Amino acid sequence: MAGKILIDAEKCKGCGLCVEVCPKGAVRISKNSNAMGYFPAECCGDSCIGCGACAVMCPDVAIEVFRDKVQEVESGAARPKAMIKEKS
Ligand code: SF4
Ligand code: SF4
Repeated sequence: MAGKILIDAEKCKGCGLCVEVCPKGAVRISKNSNAMGYFPAECCGDSCIGCGACAVMCPDVAIEVFRDKVQEVESGAARPKAMIKEKS
């Protein structure tokens, strides 16, 4: 399942917990600091599966997770629908 995250760089304190917990290596620490002087997390690559572990782990609630919603169609095949926000 494909996923996507949005990180609010200004909320992030750069603790790195999301980087450690991500099973797909889809998060890293940025080389650029935010307004508070922290180096925030950022997405890297397109390997996110939308598992939500990073958002659950984040102590600053700086991450939103989106997942592909898969819907069965008449033919029986599954196809991705629009990205939907993951409920927390
Ligand atoms: S949702 Fe899961 S796969 Fe995606 S960045 Fe967060 S921990 Fe990694
Ligand atoms: S867990 Fe949250 S505060 Fe820590 S680096 Fe990741 S986004 Fe930033």
